[in-house]
Amino acid sequence: MDVQALVERVHGELKTRTDEGKVADYIPELAKVDKAKLGLAIQMLDGASFAAGDADEPFSAQSVSKVFTLTLALGRAGEALWSRVGREPSGSPFNSIVQLEQERGVPRNPFINAGAIVVADVILSGHQPREAIGDILRFVRFVADDDTIAIDPLVARSETETGFRNIALANYMRAFGNIHHPVEKVLGVYFHHCALAMSCRQLARAGLYLAGGGRNPLTGSAVISTERARRINALMLTCGHYDASGDFAFRVGLPGKSGVGGGILAIVPGRAAIAVWSPGLNARGNSLVGSLALEMIARETGWSIFSP
Ligand code: GLN
Repeated sequence: MDVQALVERVHGELKTRTDEGKVADYIPELAKVDKAKLGLAIQMLDGASFAAGDADEPFSAQSVSKVFTLTLALGRAGEALWSRVGREPSGSPFNSIVQLEQERGVPRNPFINAGAIVVADVILSGHQPREAIGDILRFVRFVADDDTIAIDPLVARSETETGFRNIALANYMRAFGNIHHPVEKVLGVYFHHCALAMSCRQLARAGLYLAGGGRNPLTGSAVISTERARRINALMLTCGHYDASGDFAFRVGLPGKSGVGGGILAIVPGRAAIAVWSPGLNARGNSLVGSLALEMIARETGWSIFSP
């Protein structure tokens, strides 16, 4: 299989459809992004890599970063994390508040906004926001083996100024005792990790430890245990695309995490990590062309966790 030819073909076929989605304009800084962008990168465990289009241009990772903060928070809190956040798909939009009242401030999973805000609260324990943000950035640089990765301060500020829903979610959970630090500090951490700027190539490399059973074979680092990597992959499959997670599993068949910046990280266990970027979103807030690109790649390569 000529994977380089495949990513170029996928890029060529889908480039014309990038005008179909809608950029996330509720974060003013993201509304400025050029919708015509399309990047694809595949990083294989054996070291080979393939890329096409705007694969080297950094974009706002947004909720894709929640994979890395979850990994970090599990390292801090271990299994105790699961008393504060669930492991079930929500079937609701990423920024929904409705389930929090009935479920007494315990979010359904770590990938919806409420869950990721609890995860940020865990990472903040014993630190100031600046230190917690530094820890997250260092961790992402470590797994990607790339010290040039940075946080975009304009995106972080833009979201701080307009993140009323997230402010509501954090306050609501605080009322139930499930946020332990001042809400402004927790959201400072959350908004900054959402503002991580990474290219497809960097993102695919950063996700490689999840394809490698917790180990990044390119750097030789053991990041997490095999069991933990397997579990994070399971959560990505069941919850990584919010109320479209079932559809993504049906069409792509790989653990994946999307973000409103238009990025998606998909994991092919034992084989590769794939990152795609196209800023136009579908009605569920997931990259429209990015999802199509992953569907094509999965179909053509046969990569799926549901087939031998
Ligand atoms: N920072 C975004 C928000 O809180 C993340 C949402 C997303 O990428 N789905 O709304």
